[in-house]
Amino acid sequence: MTKIQTLDEFKKIKNVEFGLIVVCNKTNTLHQSNCQTLKDEDFTKSEYYWFATISLAEKSFDVMVCDSCKPEQSIVFVATTVF
Ligand SMILES: [Zn+2]
Repeated sequence: MTKIQTLDEFKKIKNVEFGLIVVCNKTNTLHQSNCQTLKDEDFTKSEYYWFATISLAEKSFDVMVCDSCKPEQSIVFVATTVF
């Protein structure tokens, strides 16, 4: 688990489109790093954590999956295309 400390880090992670971001405020929501609903201006309102895989994120937090980017579906898709 890596806490995203600065807005610069947050922007970089979104640009590389790798891994997952958990947004922690009232609920913990799991997103793909490039999710459209992750906004720079919201960065100070929540805590953001970066994870390489969904299983790592789920071990650390009780997460809800984002309706917009649907991280679980896309990870399966990526895995099947790689192998
Ligand atoms: Zn999302």
